Amino acid sequence: MEIATPSHGQLLDTFIMYGIIRTIAQGEQYQECMERTRIKPEGEYYVIQIDKLDEHTIKDEFFKNLYEAYKREYGIAREKSPQVAALQGEEKVFNKIEEFLKRGKNSRQTLDISKLYKKPSEWEQWRSNKCKFHKKELAQNPQLKESVKDFTAQVSLSPQLGKYLYKSDEGIRAEQQKICPLCISLALLGVLSYSVRMRLREGRSFLGWQFATLIPTKEASATGLSLFRRIFGKDDKLIIQPFYSEKMPELIAPLLLFKDTDTNTLETLQVLSPILFTYRFDPSPGKAGVLAVRKVSEYPASRLIKFYLYAKERASNEDGRLLDHMKLVEYSPYFSELALSILTKDIEHFFSFLRGFAVEKRRRTRKLVFFSQAFVEQALRFFSNSDDSI
Ligand SMILES: [Zn+2]
Repeated sequence: MEIATPSHGQLLDTFIMYGIIRTIAQGEQYQECMERTRIKPEGEYYVIQIDKLDEHTIKDEFFKNLYEAYKREYGIAREKSPQVAALQGEEKVFNKIEEFLKRGKNSRQTLDISKLYKKPSEWEQWRSNKCKFHKKELAQNPQLKESVKDFTAQVSLSPQLGKYLYKSDEGIRAEQQKICPLCISLALLGVLSYSVRMRLREGRSFLGWQFATLIPTKEASATGLSLFRRIFGKDDKLIIQPFYSEKMPELIAPLLLFKDTDTNTLETLQVLSPILFTYRFDPSPGKAGVLAVRKVSEYPASRLIKFYLYAKERASNEDGRLLDHMKLVEYSPYFSELALSILTKDIEHFFSFLRGFAVEKRRRTRKLVFFSQAFVEQALRFFSNSDDSI
């Protein structure tokens, strides 16, 4: 059985794909099933191959597992922070979706998702509006009919199309992306389980949100991709990092993301070479409670991963206590210099980071800090590495 995500755009499809994986992970037979399930990125969409052995369970239990996974992930998010869960206060959207999924679960009709999520070559007259087809199919289930309505993909799911897109940028139009209840349920489940939502603040004032997720670039098993969850929150913990510097956040987020990940997971992630996708919302000027997308960025996660593997390998070496040094300047603009040096492989930024560290250390301990020749040589070796695959 093959499922193809509906080509709603790279980010939205990524979250839908994660939603499907999370649904499978909710099932009783999930371990074997996750191992046998393959995910292939195909540009704008993903093909998910389900083994014959698992087809039956997936069809029979799709709504039940989707409902349970959604309730669980939304419950965790709401408990940690109501604002995070609501993704800009649209709590009623979550409740409507829960109602839709509950009806699906109680109807006892099976859902063959491969009939709704077909490969692009199998689409005919519905090509331009796949959700119209999804709605038509979903509405054939009498118990679902009433709750089959259009939803707006919130800006956090589709920053390029969000209705809160920053309008003062000439040439960019704010549009609404209407999608069906199944697409939005899976996407929200994906965003709740496979993204980090960081609340940015300075003192008591709220600055905005920074979201980050990983986009796979290579074929992998569902078990492989589920490793990403270790980065987004161990033991279902939601990562909410307060930031205290107004200048920093954009580049620090990628560095913080991999900080606590163990070496084994980093090595596996390195093989999957994902893209780190980040986007930031700030309050709209003059519109209370409305957020606008300010910045969307993509980074090759493998460079960051390689850097952490390098730093962790040398963690016990007196000269190489880079991780300790990082802690001291974690929330300062110097940290951005470190991120820049890793992402651009420009040693100048690394030296700015070292200078910043020395200044900060002196300010706190009144001691001058000098880095040894060996430490600087090690850093130079890392940054002058001609291997472009990192
Ligand atoms: Zn749809």
